[in-house]
Amino acid sequence: MRTKLVAANWKMNGSFKLLDETLNVLSPLMERASCEVVICPPDVLLYSMKSAVEGTRIAVGAQNVHSEISGAFTGETSAPLLQECGVQWCIVGHSERRILFGETDEFIRSKTETLLKHGIRPILCVGETLEQRKSGNHEEMVIAQLGKGLSGLAVDDQNRCVVAYEPIWAIGTGKTATPEQANSMHKIVRKELESLASPEVAGKMQILYGGSVNAENADTILSQSEIDGALVGGASLKIDAFPLIVAAGN
Ligand code: PEP
Repeated sequence: MRTKLVAANWKMNGSFKLLDETLNVLSPLMERASCEVVICPPDVLLYSMKSAVEGTRIAVGAQNVHSEISGAFTGETSAPLLQECGVQWCIVGHSERRILFGETDEFIRSKTETLLKHGIRPILCVGETLEQRKSGNHEEMVIAQLGKGLSGLAVDDQNRCVVAYEPIWAIGTGKTATPEQANSMHKIVRKELESLASPEVAGKMQILYGGSVNAENADTILSQSEIDGALVGGASLKIDAFPLIVAAGN
């Protein structure tokens, strides 16, 4: 039985005030929750979050990392520094990084390896564009991203990764994949994990769905057999919505 994981991706939003408010609402809820929760705010909030979540069951997550551990990479953050900020999880391969910042599968893979070396669990995002789905290439696309991201890693490392299936056409658009579309892609992801890793790894790995998850659709999405949690963007910034999504993960 896989524990559900609800991850919040704040993107370039939020504030110290929103972090306080969110933790104040979520901390008591988490005392009786069965799911795991991770919040990925912008980097400047990470260090404050580290002490604010002490003693709660809320984990600190980052949205990005560089593959190198130091050097002349203006504006980037290293894995060792994330580690010092108490970061336990980090998103890699988000479609916004792939599209807006030109990140390749190779770069994403090297970030994943760096995170694993520094004890941070990667949340590897994969997903197709609307054109790829319309032309029937969506499965092939996702399978390729998975292979480049995870094949050949040591089993212990694969066991520490989580996959987030995020159809790009559903991110921030209000258009959610139907529960059937999401569930069926999750089955394909798990089957692929069986061959690129092993049935044991595939059976244990949490596969999250991301793309316009909100307080209204969370119950239906999270009750699908193959969906082990959600990566939530816009709705994770809403103090009246995110706790309901977390509750749906219980
Ligand atoms: C995301 O950015 O990962 C995401 C799923 O965003 P949203 O929930 O806003 O679609």
